[in-house]
Amino acid sequence: MFRLALHWQILIGMIAGSVLGIALNLGAGRRSVTVTEDLPTGVRQATIEESASIIQVRYRDQADVEVTRIVDPTGQTEDSVTSLAALQREDPAAAAIYRVHGGTLAKRWGEWFRRLGGLFLRMLQMVAVPLIVTSLTTGIMGLGGTQGVGRMFRSTILYYLSTSLLAIITGLMAVNLIRPGLHGPRRNVVDPEELQAGKPLGEILFEQLETMIPANPLGALVAPDFLSIIAFTIAFALFAISVGGKPAQWVQDAATAGFEVMMAMTTFIIRLAPIGVFFLIAYVTATQGASVFRSLAWYVLAVSMALSLHAVITLPLILWFVAGRHPGQYAKAMSPALLTAFSSASSNGTLPLTLNCVEKRAGISNRTSSFVLPLGATVNMDGTALYEVIAVLFIAQLHHGQNLDLSQQMIVAVTALLASIGAAGIPHAGLVMMVVILQAVGLPVEMQGIILAVDRVLDMGRTAVNVWSDSCGCAVVEQLELGSTTPSTETAPG
Ligand code: ASP
Repeated sequence: MFRLALHWQILIGMIAGSVLGIALNLGAGRRSVTVTEDLPTGVRQATIEESASIIQVRYRDQADVEVTRIVDPTGQTEDSVTSLAALQREDPAAAAIYRVHGGTLAKRWGEWFRRLGGLFLRMLQMVAVPLIVTSLTTGIMGLGGTQGVGRMFRSTILYYLSTSLLAIITGLMAVNLIRPGLHGPRRNVVDPEELQAGKPLGEILFEQLETMIPANPLGALVAPDFLSIIAFTIAFALFAISVGGKPAQWVQDAATAGFEVMMAMTTFIIRLAPIGVFFLIAYVTATQGASVFRSLAWYVLAVSMALSLHAVITLPLILWFVAGRHPGQYAKAMSPALLTAFSSASSNGTLPLTLNCVEKRAGISNRTSSFVLPLGATVNMDGTALYEVIAVLFIAQLHHGQNLDLSQQMIVAVTALLASIGAAGIPHAGLVMMVVILQAVGLPVEMQGIILAVDRVLDMGRTAVNVWSDSCGCAVVEQLELGSTTPSTETAPG
């Protein structure tokens, strides 16, 4: 029976989901109602007008004074707040009116799409921890002693650092050439309570170190705390090798058996990717509409251009010259993982798929992929590093009305690198880490509110780039390992 290749199925799912979402958004993304019943006490009549991005609630209060409240995520409308949470704080009555009577059809359907797509993400989450543990143990036990691990660790870190730096340089170029914050009028959005207070950089890095030494490894598995799990698993496998003999053999056999079962399970889940991607993308397009992007067009353009440059030119060149792989074919092999990363905006969530594609479709050995990928999903984020640079410099351009000077830009570059290492592989993690960089160059944290509106769509792009970079890293490290492997240095465990 004729069966379409998986990446085509996913692509079709993505296009169909986008068409449905956009159609819903255009056809049912606006609404205007006047209500006289089920209103908070003291309110006699209320009118709600909403489009995909702006909500307006008007009502008459006890003293018969007309009150108008506006929620505009881009903050461009005067006297508006940027989210429903802010509305709740400022005017609970208006928020209550919207909760009961608001919501366009597009938003309501969008919510269902999110939940249905969420089922697919839950399945990926379900396999993530056992897959990482068994895969990493199998990989390290197969490396042949601590010498082999050390070598692979060096090439992996070298790759992570160089590509992240290249990504940051690309971001710096894009934001200095396009200057997205110097077009159009100055905006002013302040919604400080929405944003968490930032911590100093040293504190964040020390916390990372603490996470790598889990006080309770089982707790880390349950949480799940990926960095703790990775660190503990590496330590466990290394000590199993040093103990040697029967125990090492037993650990290796158990890990291999577990890994095979988890891989089979993941392969099954991946077949559902077209449906999962369909719902996830329909959710984003149905609820977010195009108008949000228009107001931040230059900024979105700068980030998208830089991401594309890194993904389509820089990484493929490395893949071609260092790993000797054909970029087109490699990308095709990785496409299920890349498209899922794009629609889910989570590298951690995509990890089971990435592992599967790298091994089953791109022919990379488990010893390489199981080492490079789990670590990469948490610490190697080229897309995020590049995005941080552009976002912070964009905010600086808006705030100061001019570019930051070179030394300040260097501070942004270095902190962006650290922030990308510290960011978790989950949606919007980059946005949370940005507070650190804003503080490093003395910019008001509240100005982050401006870019909140378009963060989801940019998150999708940067996550796909993060996963693409991890995947290219596997090919590069594998090649470097092959080049440097000499029979005399290979020692069998046990
Ligand atoms: N969502 C990204 C990821 O999972 C992290 C980020 O927010 O930049 O890779």
